Amino acid sequence: MTYLFSVDIEGIAGVVSVKHGSMDSKEYDEAREWMTKEANSAALGAFDTGVSKVFVTDGHGKMRNLKLDDLDERIEVFYGRPKLLSQMEGLSRDIEGVGYIGYHSSSHSFGTLAHTYFGRVVDRLEIGGREASEFAMNSYLAGQYRVPVFFISGDREAVREAQELYPGIPHVITKEPTGRYSARCRHPSVVRKEIRENVKEAIERRRGKVLKPDNTKFNVRFKDAGKLDNLELLPEVDRKGPKEFVIDTGDYETNYKLFRACTMLATMVSQ
Ligand SMILES: [Zn+2]
Repeated sequence: MTYLFSVDIEGIAGVVSVKHGSMDSKEYDEAREWMTKEANSAALGAFDTGVSKVFVTDGHGKMRNLKLDDLDERIEVFYGRPKLLSQMEGLSRDIEGVGYIGYHSSSHSFGTLAHTYFGRVVDRLEIGGREASEFAMNSYLAGQYRVPVFFISGDREAVREAQELYPGIPHVITKEPTGRYSARCRHPSVVRKEIRENVKEAIERRRGKVLKPDNTKFNVRFKDAGKLDNLELLPEVDRKGPKEFVIDTGDYETNYKLFRACTMLATMVSQ
């Protein structure tokens, strides 16, 4: 029995600034320590139930944030990038359930550090006709593998968005957003204790839900029209306007990968 935790940094208790997630900032060290401890607490909650294996995927920025020496020795970490399944690397039909740690809300929400996937590039993402957060985008991928989602921790907005898709989702709220770069923060130790307890309880009570979109179509808007000029190299990309395009191959995982390829191509446009 293997459980997978996908870990981001923006929704971790205490994280409120872009500097917390930037490797070249002095404040980053403290934030990655909080991130490591929260990921570890989630894994410990799973191990408390007798689970034999836990995968943790480092899902923020360059994906080398977790301090490996500070993690429980039984954890296996998907570290570094690129990773074919990105924040969901490690996913397969053998996974019992997926949990999310440190998640933030989508770009058009009032969450702390809210963005969708690649904040500098993506203005808005819609999947199956509704605005999608990273939680949604990743959970639909798990759904394609018939793997249920069973837990989320993050700020209140991230949890609220997750509840729209899975109303009873076991969760821990790490902070109340008070602005894009501020929050009323709960104490990190209290949050970690709750994550461990709630993950344990969610697994013991066999909570979880397989999430599927209404349809697999990706409607995307980028922030800058120039960033779309490379995308027309891909025949699957249907440009609808200066900043808008659609990916609709009929297969969710293919669309997910093409969307990510588009965000990478976008960064290669010279000005
Ligand atoms: Zn992130």
